[in-house]
Amino acid sequence: MLELHDLTKTYRTGDRALSAVSLSVPRGQLVGLIGPSGAGKSTLIRCINRLVEPTSGRVLLGGRELTGLGARELRAQRRRIGMIFQEYALVERLSVMENVLSGRLGYVGFWTSFTRRFPPEDIRRAYRLLDRVGLMDHADKRADALSGGQRQRVGIARALAQEPELLLVDEPTASLDPRTSRQIMRLLVEICTEVGLPAIVNIHDVPLAQQFMQRIIGLRAGRVVFDGTPAQLTESV
Ligand code: ADP
Ligand code: ADP
Repeated sequence: MLELHDLTKTYRTGDRALSAVSLSVPRGQLVGLIGPSGAGKSTLIRCINRLVEPTSGRVLLGGRELTGLGARELRAQRRRIGMIFQEYALVERLSVMENVLSGRLGYVGFWTSFTRRFPPEDIRRAYRLLDRVGLMDHADKRADALSGGQRQRVGIARALAQEPELLLVDEPTASLDPRTSRQIMRLLVEICTEVGLPAIVNIHDVPLAQQFMQRIIGLRAGRVVFDGTPAQLTESV
């Protein structure tokens, strides 16, 4: 369970990107975050994974504070959060399998880590995840040999390899065609539901959010202006 209490972010430029945002996301729930450009969606995601320091307010994951931590403790806590990105952020020259394993390290894109060896249970888990996302036959291919949809499947498997307690997903389908987008959304929903993983998905495509997300949160000018089901969103506009 993720809890945000009165989360506020004012950038040094004076831009108030978030104003007293409070919400909680229980296990297994997928939340679509929508809102116009500049509404504060990216800032909200970054305040949770602490790429941005909130000005005030609290973030708790599984009852534990993610705010007010020192650098070392923050690194440890960040590993509890899996990230999925619009442009996949794979290491192109590494294999699919190596990309998935890199999730075990809790950070992304650091290829020199492959001088490290992984315990057999990590390898077994990585194969299970590749199977789950439908890429078992591609394990040894280089990431740059894959299609966009396949890359995003690798991105999903990598985030899960980390055994996260929360998924933060930033515009996962913005680089994909509509059909592939739906496949990726369906996969995300299935997996999160199976393992009871909560997810916040920054998604500019409102119809896609309505089709797949259980709950929609609308941000505007840094405030929550809608919080409800896809059906309630349809009624409110
Ligand atoms: P913080 O208060 O989090 O330290 P800063 O104001 O120092 O944020 O800006 C951090 C970075 O974001 C800088 O590199 C800056 O150029 C960039 N930035 C500044 N204004 C904007 C903006 N309106 N949208 C996106 N990025 C911005
Ligand atoms: P969204 O993801 O919904 O487009 P953002 O979180 O990127 O919204 O931006 C929210 C507000 O914060 C905007 O006014 C934007 O200009 C400002 N902003 C975003 N990042 C920075 C930054 N690093 N420095 C200063 N202002 C920023």
